[in-house]
Amino acid sequence: MTTISPGGHIGILGDGQLGRMMAIAAAEMGYFVHIFGPEEDSPAAQVSHRSTVASYSDQDALTAFAKRVDVVTLEFENIPTDTVEFLSKIVPVRPGAKVLEITQDRLLEKSFINNIGIGTANFANVESIDELVHAVKQIKTPAILKTRRLGYDGKGQVKITGASNLDKVWAEMKDTPSILEGLVKFRMEISVIVARNPAGETAAFCPVENRHKNHILDITFAPADIPDWLAEKAVEMAKKIAAKIELVGLIAVEMFVTQDDQILVNELAPRPHNSGHWTIEGCATSQFRQAIRAVCGLPLGLPARHSNAVMKNLIGDDVETWGALLEDAENSLHLYGKKEAREGRKMGHVTKLIPLSKKPKT
Ligand code: AMP
Repeated sequence: MTTISPGGHIGILGDGQLGRMMAIAAAEMGYFVHIFGPEEDSPAAQVSHRSTVASYSDQDALTAFAKRVDVVTLEFENIPTDTVEFLSKIVPVRPGAKVLEITQDRLLEKSFINNIGIGTANFANVESIDELVHAVKQIKTPAILKTRRLGYDGKGQVKITGASNLDKVWAEMKDTPSILEGLVKFRMEISVIVARNPAGETAAFCPVENRHKNHILDITFAPADIPDWLAEKAVEMAKKIAAKIELVGLIAVEMFVTQDDQILVNELAPRPHNSGHWTIEGCATSQFRQAIRAVCGLPLGLPARHSNAVMKNLIGDDVETWGALLEDAENSLHLYGKKEAREGRKMGHVTKLIPLSKKPKT
């Protein structure tokens, strides 16, 4: 079990805002960060000691990167597992290829979750029109057809109702391996972020409520307004997932709370998560510092919050409101250094702390 002490070099695969905030946390703790990603002058590279701009399949670049760092982590779960396996021969990669293999594929992910005794929406594998017809009979409508791989923020998803033309739907999926999921009538979407270090120690942030707009996270309320017993259950589930998947790092577990107070897991993300940005201001240890502690093999920090919080994403043109946001002295504004405010692009976020005695949602 390797411990990487402050002064060490941490490699991060991926160059977006999560890498940026991890790199800032690592620098605060005395580490040097080396970003590996495809983009020139990326959000993460702007704040890091060193960066390599290359594709994830460039073996020469990967070898040079691996030789310069003491541990590699990631800010993006769709890094090819071949890349992670290649790097693992030279340097520890945390989390490793096994975690990515499961979390990159919705079928493997949901099967894994069910196999450890945790509920999900009903689902069926779909690889042909015949399987789709069969799956619709089994799962029933309304349902959602999702590509097994590479879907995020609602991309690669089609809602299926009794009126859907399945031939047309399947033609649009272009034979991409998919799963059909029953539509869950949830009363709330929540997430729990849990860290696990190489010694098997875990620490979880409180469950938070997530509201989406156009399939993209819009607002997080910390904590979620659910009874204590349900919050404890959600945390236990997330810790069980982290332990059973043998995680080293951070994992965000997205869950549905149903009308009758069941918790069903929707998705896993083995990295810091947008719903944990509020922890920068709201907790004794932020999710980014916790990720660095976990991957460096350090004792975990206290995840307890000292305040409640509301975090709002700034998507696309929202970023232009930065001036107005700064007029409110209680706002903590974070901008990611992205030059172009394209539609649907996460440009920044703003967090407001609220006393523990008040609910974050009014
Ligand atoms: P995902 O890409 O799986 O995270 O889904 C994006 C969003 O779509 C979720 O946050 C939910 O709001 C919604 N969604 C996904 N799957 C389901 C489901 N089985 N039932 C109801 N809503 C869902």
